[in-house]
Amino acid sequence: MNFDNFRNNLRDDKPGKRPIYVYYIIAVVIIILLNVLVLPALQEKSVIQKDYTSFLRSVDAGNVTRAQVQNNYIFYVEEIDGKEIMCKTVRMHDEDLVNRLYDAGVVMEAINTEGQSLLLSIIAGYIIPIVIFIFVGRWLSKKMMDSMGGEGGFMSFGKSNAKVYVKSSTGIKFSDVAGEDEAKELLTEIVDFLHNPQKYADIGASMPKGALLVGPPGTGKTLLAKAVAGEANVPFFSISGSEFVEMFVGMGAAKVRDLFKQANEKAPCIVFIDEIDTVGKKRDGGGFGGNDEREQTLNQLLAEMDGFDGSKGVVILAATNRPDSLDPALLRPGRFDRRIPVELPDLKGREDILKVHAKKIKIADSVHFDEIAKAAAGASGAELANIVNEAALRAVRDGRKFATQADFEESIEVVIAGYQKKNRVLSNKEKLIVAYHEIGHALVAAKQTNSAPVHKITIIPRTSGALGYTMQVDEQEHFLMSKEELENKIATLTGGRAAEELIFHSITTGASNDIEQATKIARAMITRYGMSEDFDMVAMESVTNQYLGGDASLTCSMDTQTLLDQKVVELVKTQHAKASGILNENIGKLHELAKYLFEHETITGDEFMNILSANVAIGTAGEALPDTTESVSGGEHEETSAD
Ligand code: ADP
Ligand code: MG
Ligand code: ZN
Repeated sequence: MNFDNFRNNLRDDKPGKRPIYVYYIIAVVIIILLNVLVLPALQEKSVIQKDYTSFLRSVDAGNVTRAQVQNNYIFYVEEIDGKEIMCKTVRMHDEDLVNRLYDAGVVMEAINTEGQSLLLSIIAGYIIPIVIFIFVGRWLSKKMMDSMGGEGGFMSFGKSNAKVYVKSSTGIKFSDVAGEDEAKELLTEIVDFLHNPQKYADIGASMPKGALLVGPPGTGKTLLAKAVAGEANVPFFSISGSEFVEMFVGMGAAKVRDLFKQANEKAPCIVFIDEIDTVGKKRDGGGFGGNDEREQTLNQLLAEMDGFDGSKGVVILAATNRPDSLDPALLRPGRFDRRIPVELPDLKGREDILKVHAKKIKIADSVHFDEIAKAAAGASGAELANIVNEAALRAVRDGRKFATQADFEESIEVVIAGYQKKNRVLSNKEKLIVAYHEIGHALVAAKQTNSAPVHKITIIPRTSGALGYTMQVDEQEHFLMSKEELENKIATLTGGRAAEELIFHSITTGASNDIEQATKIARAMITRYGMSEDFDMVAMESVTNQYLGGDASLTCSMDTQTLLDQKVVELVKTQHAKASGILNENIGKLHELAKYLFEHETITGDEFMNILSANVAIGTAGEALPDTTESVSGGEHEETSAD
């Protein structure tokens, strides 16, 4: 990849607006100038010291218009040629004075005596309020303009306050992220696009506008996004979803607008919205109007994502650990159309992560990371980083200069004690069961003609509760599913449980999700797709809220419902039997594959297929089995045999 030809000019972002403190400084300077220069001058001019005699003379001459006694002085205003001059004189003991002033028609106690306070009162009475009015006025008008969709601004109210990073400030590279090769590969393409947009434009390709990093907490989603920023050498806006949630109504939407405005100005650039589920939660169909503010923010986000031109090079990354709670509109093509799974690391990944973090501490030569990684099954990247740090702390506590193997092992226990509570670490026995369960799914899928090939299987527990996971990728997208395909899908779902039964002769709770899904499909086949002879093309359910969630409600009589339930059970039972049959036939492969998965924790589709298509293994199976026919379409005719 070519990181050299980045655009330097992008990085000297010219200040669009002067920062607010400049205005404060100007205001302070003006006030100081007023105080230092103007005020004393005024003061000197305004109050002239006179002797008492000349005061009396002025009074007698009728030039004094007003007078006031304050402390030991008499302040008075003398009028000469129509000009008023403020004077003061020392107060004498003069019984006659009041009468004298009265006779001369002087208005008494009517002067604001101090020149300084006169000026101060002008400042306090006029200038400060005016300044405040200007500020408040601007602030209000800005706020109003923002909520009306206009722009312009003086204060930073309603601004996105997204942090802007450039390469130098994050300093994180892909090499700092261990494992997660799939995610890195997908993100590398985005980085490449930002560097060589021409290459893509020549072909006419436009980058996906958005990529969504999904995965459990602590697996390095935020880290990956920062690494993208570090590699891409373009401005990187980072904002957390919760920062959109504002005290004032309409502010969230304004922030979104501002963020995208900035991003457009700085394109090519990357916008990263962390924890997007805070703003991107599903809008609900009805209720009490929902959370209007959040919905507005989301709508604004959707609109902005549509509004900008993908070829300009604004790429939006987002991270979440709750993808299922996101609004479907966010996930549709043209928005976050690329989904990047960031999963818990497997054995190899754990080892790599440990090594990356161990670089930061001093360790003894004898540390075996593979053993540590093995012991920390189910730990996330963040937990592994924690383990390394704990080990270093332990070494310091014991007064050693290096962390040893023992330090690591002890610290695993410290950290594991933390997550054993969360029930995520599998015992070997459990791991074995899960391995068989997952291979059961995969094998049934692979042995059915119409089932999609297996892409990847892992037995790394995930936070969703599933202990393992078989990822299937359809060869081509299809919208129409045949009855047979649906049946095969159900068979595949029951394959996990079937394998458990076959090998361990006992069943576990691990199949709950499978059961739910299989039931859903079977039910839909009968109630909605008209795929049973008994009901023909009669809809038993109608879908409400189709675009958001898709709940269904029954529209049939009680009797039919009972019958319906029976049919669903029948359907699933048949497929379950079929799956058992397939596994029984291929039990040798089942053992072999499960063993491989147990040892490696992850198996890719290719590896799976290699093992599957290798010569029929005879020795591996420990049990008697009637397996010889390596028929691809095995199963169909077995349907009724087991039940
Ligand atoms: P997430 O955003 O997915 O919850 P983070 O990206 O905040 O997780 O990760 C937390 C920390 O865990 C990181 O700062 C890093 O130290 C460590 N970490 C997680 N995954 C990895 C990884 N794949 N490689 C290296 N370190 C990791
Ligand atoms: Mg995060
Ligand atoms: Zn399963």
